[in-house]
Amino acid sequence: MPFKRGKVKDVYDLGHDQLLFIFTDRVSAYDVVLPSTIPRKGEVLCKLAKFWFEYLKVPNHMVRVENANRMVVRKLKMIPVEAVVRGYIYGSLFDRVKKGEVKLPVEPVLAAKLPEPYFDPTTKSDVKDEPVTLDQIIEEGWLDKDQLGELRKKTVEIYGKMSERAEGAGFILADLKLEFGFDKQENIVLADSIGPDEFRLWPKSEYAPGKTQESYDKQVIRDWLGKVGFKKTLDEARKEGRPTPRPPDLPSDLVQETSRRYIVAYEKLTGLKL
Ligand code: ADP
Repeated sequence: MPFKRGKVKDVYDLGHDQLLFIFTDRVSAYDVVLPSTIPRKGEVLCKLAKFWFEYLKVPNHMVRVENANRMVVRKLKMIPVEAVVRGYIYGSLFDRVKKGEVKLPVEPVLAAKLPEPYFDPTTKSDVKDEPVTLDQIIEEGWLDKDQLGELRKKTVEIYGKMSERAEGAGFILADLKLEFGFDKQENIVLADSIGPDEFRLWPKSEYAPGKTQESYDKQVIRDWLGKVGFKKTLDEARKEGRPTPRPPDLPSDLVQETSRRYIVAYEKLTGLKL
């Protein structure tokens, strides 16, 4: 029985409080599923998620992996918050800093390193995730103060551990988005997946603040969508409450390059061959 067709995963309810995640080759950017697929992306995402769940050694929902791109997980009561943590001023955080919506203790330079990881949660929405304050999370009743403290602590700790691993593999983990849920005993358990759709990964050798970074994730696609004007069209449509415009097909060299970057990221981070 289909449970949910996510943007990039197909999720099936297996009964017995288990879900089957099928990681597809679909790709989304700015919360829109694009018409093109990225070869081997599903496989990379599934195997990389497995790697991180085992590596991090924090309570998580993974039960087992079947085939190249299928993972069975424990069904949880999901916390409706995307636990975002950032080590660098980039993406939507940079935009918010420029608009004066967020004050940070450093100069607002693109890709500048933050003195410490910044916990920056958002809502979980099928349309567009929006920043949410810690007070709002409590007011909405999504978490109590202690649970929120725990969620934040876990998120920052996981980011630290993953950053260290990335560093050793020649990368900077610029930011990370995690999802958590409650198990039957109300424990906070790491869920969803952890891969290049959930983080920004920059090659260390090319890092310099003040510019757009080379990135081993779907940033190349985001940048291209910006260049061809789709991002602007999308933002305008959203502002005016119009339906989502159809995204353009990705050129084949961009598709190949994205696929290559996903595979390189997997192999370097894990030390394994795909
Ligand atoms: P999206 O891109 O909309 O997040 P996905 O393709 O990632 O969609 O679909 C996965 C969906 O399953 C998400 O809504 C996610 O919150 C949810 N999910 C992840 N892990 C679990 C779990 N262990 N139990 C229940 N739901 C989960």
